[in-house]
Amino acid sequence: MSKIKALIRKRPKSDPSKAISVNSDNQNTNIDAASKGHTVNTPIEQTRWNGWGNININKKVSAHGAKLIKSHIGKTKKLSSVSLQQVLKTVPKSRLPVAMTELDTVSVDNEVRLRHARGQSFPDWIAMHGGDFEAFPDGVAFPESTADVETLLKLASEHDLIVIPFGGGTSVAGHINPQKGSRPVLTIAMSKMDQLIDLDSESQIATFGAGTQGPAVEAQLDEYGYRLGHYPQSWELSTLGGWIAARSSGQQSLGYGRIEQMFAGGTLVTPQGVLNIADIPASAAGPDLREMMMGTEGRAGIFTEVKMRVQSQPEEELFKVAFLPNWEAGKEVLRQAVQKNIRLSMLRLSNAVETDAHLHLGTTPSQFMAISTYLKARGLSSKKVMLTYGVSGDKAQNKLALTQFNKLLKQQGSVTGKITDIMGSVWAHGRFKFPYLRGTLWGKGIMVDTFETATNWNNIDEQMAQMQEAVKKSLADEGENVMAFTHISHVYKQGASLYTTYFFRAAKDHASTLSRWQKIKHAASSSLANGTATISHQHGVGRDHAPYLAAEKGKLGIQVTSDMLKSLDPEQRMNPGVLIKE
Ligand SMILES: Cc1cc2nc3c(=O)[nH]c(=O)nc-3n(C[C@H](O)[C@H](O)[C@H](O)COP(=O)(O)OP(=O)(O)OC[C@H]3O[C@@H](n4cnc5c(N)ncnc54)[C@H](O)[C@@H]3O)c2cc1C
Repeated sequence: MSKIKALIRKRPKSDPSKAISVNSDNQNTNIDAASKGHTVNTPIEQTRWNGWGNININKKVSAHGAKLIKSHIGKTKKLSSVSLQQVLKTVPKSRLPVAMTELDTVSVDNEVRLRHARGQSFPDWIAMHGGDFEAFPDGVAFPESTADVETLLKLASEHDLIVIPFGGGTSVAGHINPQKGSRPVLTIAMSKMDQLIDLDSESQIATFGAGTQGPAVEAQLDEYGYRLGHYPQSWELSTLGGWIAARSSGQQSLGYGRIEQMFAGGTLVTPQGVLNIADIPASAAGPDLREMMMGTEGRAGIFTEVKMRVQSQPEEELFKVAFLPNWEAGKEVLRQAVQKNIRLSMLRLSNAVETDAHLHLGTTPSQFMAISTYLKARGLSSKKVMLTYGVSGDKAQNKLALTQFNKLLKQQGSVTGKITDIMGSVWAHGRFKFPYLRGTLWGKGIMVDTFETATNWNNIDEQMAQMQEAVKKSLADEGENVMAFTHISHVYKQGASLYTTYFFRAAKDHASTLSRWQKIKHAASSSLANGTATISHQHGVGRDHAPYLAAEKGKLGIQVTSDMLKSLDPEQRMNPGVLIKE
């Protein structure tokens, strides 16, 4: 059968049983378990209004993990948190024109507006816990079709509204936050456009509503034996439209590609009309509109239907762990594996500090002792680094890839065995649960955030050292220590991404804690804005990185991008201030 018209399933009303059925630390959250039967998005009321993820999922932090972090940053004190009811009292009256509030697609309910006012950046968490949201959308629209979005954009123009496209709201760079201003704000939430619309099995192109979240993408494809293979750590809640608009990268990008390789074309509704991007496999017909529209972060228009390149479900998928004597050895394995075209699906290398932290955070004291003793007995010191890798494909192909990769590992003095294989499975099993740790640590007064970049292999070490140094020193004026560690999570023949996690203490209140974060963020971002590393490899620009973009793109680059956006949105109503600082 060359072309299967997918059944358009009727959307059940907010059915909690459709939400991810994971409610304790021990339950399965791996790809299969999480996506099975998950053919619609997680209803927003099933998610935390002031933190990450599903309200039924928590992740504990081991006592010795927390102790390790505190040994770097000092004793901590928890920040206070306001209640939902308290914040609801601060939501002002909607300024939307009455004609719009009467539309079936638009809600002016205060809780709906509150739940679409903030994403997942550190300033967002401060706002959500401190209660100072600064601004709320005046209304939230829930379109069900491209025609609905066209109507909404026409009305936005007639009534001079600001429009914010909203996917899963998982932005960590201030992409979807309304700003104070005279023009009312309409957030357009894509959550009802969450269905597989068409599957061309011959060309392996699946057309989806752009608001489809990760688990709903994979569950619907799985029914036909296909897979997209895009697994950012925010997979549970982030959407196709958000991935494309913010140029996301998933954990298995080595095997499945970045979102740029998966996005074939689709429909973008702009204030100037509908832009249809043809899903042609390759073209020499001038600049590529597909490439030009990716990364526009809601400023060019709204993706409504997107055509994605999919592939058959793999026969076998494995995740494993190896330990290497030091960073140099680990980096050499990664570089050679990618440059020799070994067919792995993922590679991730934690530096020594991250390796130690992971071993503490992910184990009980007795497990930690057992693993440490095992690794020490095999000659590894405190410089050891942890490498996580995976294969996804048919068994023969995986076998060949693992044989080739094992050879590289051995050359660099790796330690592998039953215990490291188990660690690989444990990682895969719990990989979408790591973000839940943030809330647990927050509750202990341990503030955590991340930043990321990409650079060439010849600059990896220097960049990592610079970033970590800048972050560690950033609170010296307050006598505060920052703990930072880094991993490589996406590899290319030319270079790799670097992903740094840092911890610092909450200050006496929300405002002074935010000020600490601003100092760290500025130190980290300035260390990147040097022409050799990008301000973001996968999180996008948003508002938080916009001040640093010119250092990467140059004055003319910013001008070209800005002119292109203005040609589609001359009245500057689509998410102004995001991506390009006005
Ligand atoms: C815990 C956590 C882990 C993360 N891990 C990763 C990771 O591994 N890899 C990664 O790439 N990112 C990661 N992120 C960042 C974030 O998930 C990505 O930026 C993601 O692409 C955002 O998708 P979303 O659907 O949530 O979009 P949103 O946050 O809702 O929006 C992001 C931007 O896209 C625009 N947008 C959304 N939908 C549309 C649409 N249909 N049309 C036009 N514009 C649209 C918005 O206006 C906004 O500018 C992580 C975030 C969190 C909180």
